[in-house]
Amino acid sequence: MSLRQASGTFSNPTCFLLLVSFLLSCSFSLSAAAQSCGSQGVAVQVLGSGGPELQDKRASSSYLVWENGQARVLVDAGGGSALRFGESGAQMSQLDVILFTHFHVDHSGDFPTLIFSSWFGDRKRPLPIYGPPGNDFMPSTTEFVSDLFGDKHGAYRYLSELLVPGEEGSYKMQPHNVVVSETPVTVFRSGDLAASAVRVFHGAVPALAWRVEIGGKVLVFSGDTNGEGEGLVRLAMNADLFIAHNAVPEGAVGIERRLHMPPSVIGQIAEDAKVKRLVLSHRMLRTLGTEDQTQSEIKKRYLGPVVFANDLDCFPVR
Ligand SMILES: [Zn+2]
Repeated sequence: MSLRQASGTFSNPTCFLLLVSFLLSCSFSLSAAAQSCGSQGVAVQVLGSGGPELQDKRASSSYLVWENGQARVLVDAGGGSALRFGESGAQMSQLDVILFTHFHVDHSGDFPTLIFSSWFGDRKRPLPIYGPPGNDFMPSTTEFVSDLFGDKHGAYRYLSELLVPGEEGSYKMQPHNVVVSETPVTVFRSGDLAASAVRVFHGAVPALAWRVEIGGKVLVFSGDTNGEGEGLVRLAMNADLFIAHNAVPEGAVGIERRLHMPPSVIGQIAEDAKVKRLVLSHRMLRTLGTEDQTQSEIKKRYLGPVVFANDLDCFPVR
């Protein structure tokens, strides 16, 4: 029934206006509810559930870890994630740390957008940023941040006050290169929060997977990886939530397989690590539509709950 039709059924206009106002207040309370991820306890909110393609109509890779209404950890910041960050209700001043898995554009493109937004916020404390070291193909984390915000050659050097010591900024970014192997190493602690990393394999790109322990819960982010090696299983051991990247379908070969893990490998890692819940993200045009096959390949190896992520989905961890 349209509003015009509805108005016809009400002989009393006041009655009709009351109904409209009731319906509007319902829709506002629903949207307010959508912004309350992690208001109590720990939750992961998916800011970007897509990959690099824009036609997937998803923001690229990015996740927020919430605890008791505070957005404490940001993992990656792919294109579109800054808009989702705003939609989530998070503030840059709330973040304890930013963790990067690697510096492909679909994991880092909105980082400067988020930093510029923070310039208008009330952040006063340093912002630690952890990510992989560099090689001939990719900058290290410290290079990535200074390539953007360094005072001499940074693309956005007009914001160098947020990086360069001695300049008058409201806060400073503190970038760190995380050099690790396949044994998990804890690189950041703050109160009840700890972040640990292992190296993972993603072609020639230096890449990390992250384990975030917070409020007694364990959240693990695979990032992009082909699943080789033992590091990811060690890192994900007994995780409450394992967010794995479903970037290729079963049977992928060539460059796709060298970069990403197919569903059978995701399922085996989830099983070996005894994770309690599996979330599939980084969904791409080649995996969207193959969910049934993906699910059945995973179920052959891992019998726990499996969920496909969408932008702004909230996964409370109880
Ligand atoms: Zn990616």
